[in-house]
Amino acid sequence: MRCTLLEQELVLPSPLISFTPTWKGAEQVEIKIKRDDLIHPVISGNKWRKLSSLLNEIPQDTKGIVSFGGGFSNHIHALAYCCKGLSLPFTAIIRGDYNQHITPMLEDILAWGAQVVYVDRVTFKRRNDEDYLKALSRQFDGYSIIPEGGSHKNAIQGIANVVKEVEWDFDTILTPVASGATLAGVAQSLNTHQRAIGIAVLKGKGYLETLVESFVSPPRGNWHIEHGFHHGRYGKVSPELDRFCTDLFEEYKVPVEGVYSGKLFFALKAMLANRTFPKGHKILVLHTGGVQGARQKQPNNLKFT
Ligand SMILES: *Cc1c(COP(=O)(O)O)cnc(C)c1O
Repeated sequence: MRCTLLEQELVLPSPLISFTPTWKGAEQVEIKIKRDDLIHPVISGNKWRKLSSLLNEIPQDTKGIVSFGGGFSNHIHALAYCCKGLSLPFTAIIRGDYNQHITPMLEDILAWGAQVVYVDRVTFKRRNDEDYLKALSRQFDGYSIIPEGGSHKNAIQGIANVVKEVEWDFDTILTPVASGATLAGVAQSLNTHQRAIGIAVLKGKGYLETLVESFVSPPRGNWHIEHGFHHGRYGKVSPELDRFCTDLFEEYKVPVEGVYSGKLFFALKAMLANRTFPKGHKILVLHTGGVQGARQKQPNNLKFT
């Protein structure tokens, strides 16, 4: 299914801007930001990159789409908007019951005509199990099922397009990591002298590496993940990180949220101060979007895993 109508709404290629913060160590290197957050106000960043591949694979005669996510999910938000544009019924299977405390994300997708099904954590955990998916296929006869985050092998090509758009010959690219699909797609498309560094947004040493490897084939040794910047867990925004996000916007007009891009830029600042990169190094920071998720603070009792 091609979404030519939707594509007309998108800013592609996304802007590449110079970033010259007054941070310690920044004067030694050259930094540019790939502003995928500017692709579209709703179909944001890496979620569009993934969906651009996935939606192409969906049969023309599909009766609708089912997918999974949390109550703030950027993926569900982007996908619901796409489905509205394509006049396709969409069912979002959401972890937790938000009936009593609806989120801005859920309000949007309900307004766009999505059906929302709340499931408990145990059920949500089964979202990739074969028997559960078979049962869903029977329940949603003729629908296409897209995995959480749009993170599927077939989404990798869409991510690779980000790197292809960049004409600047950077040395290192920095991207946040949750499911690992974005880092995998980026690593896949690099030239031999280039390297990717993923910033883990959740506690997952070892686990995240396995996820990335499951998407990259053949395996490439051109990436690694930094695990020191998750601030405790997925969705956890420390007061320090919160302040950092506000300052980044006020000083440099780069909008970020605390779940993904805030942790990414926070890590960049720390790595510059630690002289992680050699003098003259060219660093590309991939802003993966997702600023919609910051419209309401995540409740502290929500856990990702
Ligand atoms: C989903 C998301 C990520 C994580 O991407 P993965 O491919 O799951 O690692 C990063 N940034 C933003 C803004 C996201 O919405």
